[in-house]
Order: sequence, then C-alpha cells, then structure tokens
Amino acid sequence: MDLNNKIEKIGIVFAMKGEALATIHHFNLERINGNYPVELYGNAENKIVVSLNGTCSFTGVDNVGTQAATLNTYVLINEVNPDIVINAGTAGGFAHSGAKIGDVYIGTNRVVYHDRRIPLPKFDEYGIGNYGLINTDYLAKQIGIKQGIISTGNSLDYVDRDLQLMKMSNASLKDMEAASVAWVCQLLNKAFIPIKSVTDMVDGGIPTEVEFKANFNLATKNLNLKLIQLIDFIYQKTMEEIVSPEK
Ligand code: SAH
Repeated sequence: MDLNNKIEKIGIVFAMKGEALATIHHFNLERINGNYPVELYGNAENKIVVSLNGTCSFTGVDNVGTQAATLNTYVLINEVNPDIVINAGTAGGFAHSGAKIGDVYIGTNRVVYHDRRIPLPKFDEYGIGNYGLINTDYLAKQIGIKQGIISTGNSLDYVDRDLQLMKMSNASLKDMEAASVAWVCQLLNKAFIPIKSVTDMVDGGIPTEVEFKANFNLATKNLNLKLIQLIDFIYQKTMEEIVSPEK
C-alpha cells in the first residue's frame, strides 16, 4: 500500500472465537457474509472486520492452526480488502526471553515456522518462511507492549527439533497461525501486524494444555485491551505515521 494512504479498513484474523468475543462486542460487530467455515464480523461499511477460523463441523472445536488461518486470511482479504491485517491470538512464551503469563507482544522483525523441516537446498529456507511484517518499534512504544519474534507450528506441544529451530530463530513466542497469515499477506501485498498474549510458558515445565486452560481468560482479557488500543491508534493514520513517525 501507498505509505501516504490512510488506514480506513482494518481486518483482524483470530483462530478461536473465545479470543475474539471482547473485540467483537467492543466495536458492536455483527455477523456478515463469509465463506464457511470462516466467520466474518463487521461494523458499518466494514471499517473494522473480525474474521474467525470457524469451527470444525466434525468435532465442534475451533479450527486452530495454519490450514484454517490461511483460508481465513484469504477469505478476509478477498471479501473485505482491508488496508491492514492484524493476527490476534494467544501464544506460548519463552521464560528465557523474559516472557510472563498474560504479557501481550507485538511481532517484530519476521515471522517463522518451526515444524516445516525440509533438509534440502533452498527448501530448508522455504520451510522456515521468514515472512515480513511492518516495523512495529513505534507502535510497541505507543501501545506499551513488548516486541518479539513469533514462531508458528501446527502443534500445541513440541518435539526437541522444534525447540532447536525456535531457538535458532530467536523466537519469544510460539503459536499456531501467525506465519500462515503473514504468508497470505505477503502474497496479496497487505501490511501485516501480529499481536499475541501469553497463555503458557514453553520452557516452564508445566504441561502446555494445563497452563493454556488456566490462563486463557487472563491472557485473552489483556490481548483484547491492547488490541483495541492498537486499532484505535492506527485507525485513520497513514502507514507512514505508524511505521516511521520520528523524523
Ligand atoms: N487446548 C485448547 C486448544 C487451543 S490450541 C483448548 O482446549 O481449547 C491453541 C491455540 O492457542 C492456537 O490458536 C495457538 O495459536 C495458541 N497457542 C497458545 N499457546 C500455544 C503454544 N504454547 N503453542 C502453540 N500455540 C499456542
């Protein structure tokens, strides 16, 4: 997008409905068309649209992970054509990088994968992904949140090799969607911002699913507070104003 164009339409991709409810209520969003399983919620003229991965028709659970997030992002961009795409959600954090339960992070630098292991020339690099996002230095300061590299994979737990790859990538956060959302944004030339709150410590020793459930409400509350602040801050500003305001 042109750096001088105003951000007038914001799309927010979530994996889980429970993560998105507070934002849907805050902006009085109502269900609009959307190809199933993706669920779109918008306000007048779709200035703010929340887009959910939707639920699995066989099991009834949210369609978490990269496959549904890829479809979600594509449907959102195709139907609404937002000026910017935010991926909001929960994540595991690394204690060694200073993360704590309930912290909210904005992505920085790049978004990577840790479970696409293809040890062939060039395919190894392709597997990691290294997708871009906007420079979030100024936004992190304005909103008052940490910055970190997010690494994505399709499992809530991990194997040793995942951990090695996350360390090599300098990841502060581990999730199941951000890299796939970033990929679609890169393909379709959309500005991208990931924002994630910490439900569990990857290197903390407690089983992830136990910590995830115990901290989901706290993390989701913090996520929505910061996400709403972020949306209010970037709305009607230009890309230039949110990326490089110091002159
Ligand atoms: N166990 C959950 C299922 C959610 S799956 C339940 O019972 O409802 C986890 C979701 O939260 C994904 O969308 C993922 O992006 C995020 N997430 C939170 N902590 C994570 C972690 N440690 N690793 C990977 N994804 C995590």
